[in-house]
Amino acid sequence: MKLTDHVTYTYDHLVNYAEIKERLERYAAEHPELTRLTVAGTTPEGRDILVLEVTDLSSGAFEDKPAYYMEGNIHAGEITGCMCILYFLDTVFSNLDSPEIKRMLRDYTIYALPRVSPDGSEHYLTTPDMVRSTNRIYPYQEDMPGLVPTDLDGDGVIRKMRVKSPVGIWKESKEDPRVMVKRKPDETEGTFYNVYSEGLIKDYDGMRIVSAPQKFGNDFNRNYPVGWKPEHEQHGAGSYPLNHPETRANTDFLIAHPNICSVLDMHTMGGQILYTPGFKLAKEADPADIAIYKTVGAMAHEESGYPVINVFDEYMPKGMAATYGGFDDFCHFILGIPAFTIECWDLDPRAGVPVKFPPDAETSDEAQFEHALKYVQWIDKENDGEGIMPWTKFNHPQLGEVEIGGIDYKRVVQNPPPKFLRQELEKHTRFMLRQVKTLPHIVFDKIEKTQLADGLWKIEAYVMNTGFLPTYVFKEGLKLKTMRPLKVTLEGGEIMIGKKEEEIGQLEGFSGIRGYNSGLGASSYETAPVEKKVTWVVKADKGTELRIQIEGARIGRKEAKTVL
Ligand SMILES: [Zn+2]
Repeated sequence: MKLTDHVTYTYDHLVNYAEIKERLERYAAEHPELTRLTVAGTTPEGRDILVLEVTDLSSGAFEDKPAYYMEGNIHAGEITGCMCILYFLDTVFSNLDSPEIKRMLRDYTIYALPRVSPDGSEHYLTTPDMVRSTNRIYPYQEDMPGLVPTDLDGDGVIRKMRVKSPVGIWKESKEDPRVMVKRKPDETEGTFYNVYSEGLIKDYDGMRIVSAPQKFGNDFNRNYPVGWKPEHEQHGAGSYPLNHPETRANTDFLIAHPNICSVLDMHTMGGQILYTPGFKLAKEADPADIAIYKTVGAMAHEESGYPVINVFDEYMPKGMAATYGGFDDFCHFILGIPAFTIECWDLDPRAGVPVKFPPDAETSDEAQFEHALKYVQWIDKENDGEGIMPWTKFNHPQLGEVEIGGIDYKRVVQNPPPKFLRQELEKHTRFMLRQVKTLPHIVFDKIEKTQLADGLWKIEAYVMNTGFLPTYVFKEGLKLKTMRPLKVTLEGGEIMIGKKEEEIGQLEGFSGIRGYNSGLGASSYETAPVEKKVTWVVKADKGTELRIQIEGARIGRKEAKTVL
């Protein structure tokens, strides 16, 4: 049995804020030796943005170890992303006796922030409304004229609404009456419809049905200070970078924790493992950093089967604008650390919808019809017909007789239906457990003591990074020139030769050792050191205890003791 099969909670519904809070508070109360519950910020509706910090405190403080940061629900409706983090924590706390979890908590710190936007998610879960990041009205300050998506029939879901019209551009398909097909220009006989979101029209003139602008248009994932552009150039941008308490909260947390070596941002949907940059070509980033993304991403692919793709080059449709102000780009280019974005829930491939990267900017009417038909067929076959409503007559207060029907977007497309939820969470948790192990890991390889004379010793400390990632983590981080070199200190004797604080630069990880497997077999090529030696001559009596410590922004601190 895998570790991730052994969990405590059930995963049959999308979780609300109270459930998240209850879980995190329970872990904190039951395991004070492993946890600290931190409030990263508070939302306008008064909800705390909670971070559970997890490490084995008997082997060092939270900030003294390399850390793995994970978050979800920067997009309010992408509840599955948040639940992956809960599933990861559940796996950790349900398997505390396992050697793997023990090692992980001995060597590393986990910072888990399941829900960046609790106000937005709560609105998404408790109303039929769609919410991108938050339920605060934006970019306008009030409801705008036009069709406002509204749950008219009271089933809790905003679906589609079809209205008979002589200028209808849709007709019912012969293959499945729930799916609409485009009307040909020469089709004059038949029943035609126009199809809108289920909703009410504000300031209806009795003729035209136009969509109102999106009410909750804020996109927190466009609000970070990296390549930020205003609303007319980047939809959802916000009034200025970090103008929201939520985006401020995770930013301040990341800035305050330089020991964070890797970021994982959990989203839905599509089934992709995305890596930065999102606003410029991948080849404009450092090749060593991109190589790290590809190698670590390959493990994510092994667990979920999802493709590993670059946001700018492959995820965005060809010819479309870049994404500006993204959280993951902020991590990469402002903090200098890697940030994966995982889009959970791969309905398209499951339903047999062809997927290609980069996607085409435009798809044909035929391809769109096939797409819609395949979803409906998948729901019938794989989801026991749950999550779709056939066209059903409804007396609309403004339009008269209409028909409402279609898919429950929130619980079929944007998030997996309940019966697929747990498998989705489990596979990403397997990757998370693997990704932690890629962080830098400092060991004192050996400490040699040579007695030069009575009370005079030569001390040689060898420090090695046995982790995959280098101690600076990302070349982009070095370029920022904000990271101090690693510092090795010695205490306990009188230093005659050598420095009390010796700066040793950085240590490569084994990601920095190139390899090639030719017909003649494997070869390794070292490019920069993974190990360095610090030498002192100290005056001290036999039996004196020396404490040697190494410290660095990303690695925290580690100490070794030796007795002369
Ligand atoms: Zn998202």
